[in-house]
Amino acid sequence: MKFNWKKSITLLLCFVLMISLAACAKETTNEVPNGSGTYKAGSYTGVGKGNNGDVKVEVVFDENSIVSVKVLEHAETDGISNAPIDRIPTEIVENQTLAVDVIAGATNTSNAILLAVEDCVKQAGGNVDSLKLATDKKDDNKTETEMSTDVVVIGGGGTGLAAAASAHEHGADVIVLEKLATVGGSTALSGGGISATGTRFQKELGIEDSKESWMSLWKERQSTSNPNGKYPDYDVVDTFMDEAIVTTHWLVDYIKHAYTKIEGFGFDPVARLHFPEKGGADVTNNIEKFISAEGVQILTETPATDLLTDDSGNVIGVIAEGPEGRIKINAKKVILATGGFAKNEELLERLVPQMAGTAAMSAASVGSTGDGIIMAEKLGAALYEEAWVIGLGMGSKVQELRGIEWDSTKVLINEKGERFMNESSHYAIVTNKVSEQEQVWMLIDSSEGNAKHAEALKGLLPNDEIATGETFEELAKAMGVSEANLVNTMKAFNEGAKTGNDAFGKPQAMIVPVETGSYYAVKFYPKTMGTFGGVKTNENYQVLKADGSVINNLYAGGEVANKVLYNQVYMSGSAVQFALTSGRLAGEHAAKAVLAGN
Ligand SMILES: Cc1cc2nc3c(=O)[nH]c(=O)nc-3n(C[C@H](O)[C@H](O)[C@H](O)COP(=O)(O)OP(=O)(O)OC[C@H]3O[C@@H](n4cnc5c(N)ncnc54)[C@H](O)[C@@H]3O)c2cc1C
Repeated sequence: MKFNWKKSITLLLCFVLMISLAACAKETTNEVPNGSGTYKAGSYTGVGKGNNGDVKVEVVFDENSIVSVKVLEHAETDGISNAPIDRIPTEIVENQTLAVDVIAGATNTSNAILLAVEDCVKQAGGNVDSLKLATDKKDDNKTETEMSTDVVVIGGGGTGLAAAASAHEHGADVIVLEKLATVGGSTALSGGGISATGTRFQKELGIEDSKESWMSLWKERQSTSNPNGKYPDYDVVDTFMDEAIVTTHWLVDYIKHAYTKIEGFGFDPVARLHFPEKGGADVTNNIEKFISAEGVQILTETPATDLLTDDSGNVIGVIAEGPEGRIKINAKKVILATGGFAKNEELLERLVPQMAGTAAMSAASVGSTGDGIIMAEKLGAALYEEAWVIGLGMGSKVQELRGIEWDSTKVLINEKGERFMNESSHYAIVTNKVSEQEQVWMLIDSSEGNAKHAEALKGLLPNDEIATGETFEELAKAMGVSEANLVNTMKAFNEGAKTGNDAFGKPQAMIVPVETGSYYAVKFYPKTMGTFGGVKTNENYQVLKADGSVINNLYAGGEVANKVLYNQVYMSGSAVQFALTSGRLAGEHAAKAVLAGN
């Protein structure tokens, strides 16, 4: 895709900043004569823009200090936003400062709170600049700590938590390191549905399913892109399918997790996705709760930075950076569970150049920066060839169109002014096809069903991301594509709505004609939710070097080692299942090896 990221990101940041400096209203004040005091005493309210809307705070000042900060209202994601909402107000009051570190993984919520408080300070006549002067309080207290354990798990997403639970179950002492303020990773952001066939939960509901059925879907999907790809390794997929059943039962029997429904997922009609009540955060919260109660230590805001090895190259521990300073952890086994690299532009450019430029828009956890892959590579781990992304369809930079990327009835046009796919394909296939074009536009007309979006787009003009025209000829000009091609393409598409004949086999029910001007074309870009790639492992999830030998004491699972299952198309419900299954098996193998003295 050729698009100007720098310019677009600058524009986006300006937009976000403008919105963030949202109005802040003085609610009630008991102004006292200011005298030489720092603030006009009283209670003020302020609003900052978070991820999901406004974050409203109330700040109370006396003449000389910030007395309290309270988050009154917000729509931020439960779990991820807990740390900033709990801690930033307290830190502001305790240290009388706005020089508060944002919480890793919850930057937007943190900034929303800080901006809202800042505005209240201004209203109260305080000096924002002096409050923003950083203090050295933290660095003064930094210490070096040494710990020892059987198994260190790096990363507290699905893989890491399952690995920790399983290693503990099999008798090992375990420490989990998580670099963000909360555990969960991409797993917590996912739908949390895990695929498995022939489970007792399916049987209880009378759902007929088989491994063969899942395997045949797997083969069909993987053949839709990159037909000569080296992966998947179907023997590994076959074993994974057997182990997926064990994991699906284990989560309920051992962890006390629960499924509230078993469904297909649109493109995958067989009911084999086992969903918890509230999505992926249920999975990670339940495992975290369980292992914490069992005494497993979870150190958050503690990124692992290096693996320790002895003179023979055997892994013997981990170096991490905790809030209080550097930690050296001596360990018999280390499990890499740091997720993929969808948020690391440098790794994308190196490993999946076709998807370079997608990091900013990726839905993956901000923790997905490939740390474990980088650490293992330094020790000589072999990386899987043909890394790819886990596609989540496509996305627009126009916020008003949030959600419309899932509307498969829409028509997509490329830089030639032509369609290039059946838009109602699986979302991972959409990502792949979109990435193959120079530029992709989604067309929207002004018919009744689109009224809300058309109105919003009109209000955003002029805009680099949007083209408009009263006719397809005018629209083509504004898009910079061939007029003849666009006119012919739209004629054929609209006829398909009547006849059911579509050049790309789109089902008639999914074709909604585009025939009421004004027309709008909006740029869309490939969107990801993770990566396929990572380090090669053997069947026990032990990390391998290029010569096939094991790096002693080092394991990997989840997105750190998932390419073996896929070519370029994600299978719904399989990535969380692989995270949990590979974590469970790596944890079990590591613990058994420790207990056996290996
Ligand atoms: C929005 C979204 C929806 C999805 N929906 C589905 C779905 O419905 N079904 C499905 O099967 N898959 C889905 N996926 C994909 C799936 O969630 C992931 O592939 C899978 O959960 C990855 O698990 P993981 O344990 O490898 O990584 P993660 O869950 O991301 O965990 C990795 C953890 O490691 C931490 N970490 C990273 N570096 C370090 C370090 N140096 N030190 C310490 N900690 C570190 C990260 O902060 C993170 O918490 C979705 C993904 C997203 C983003």
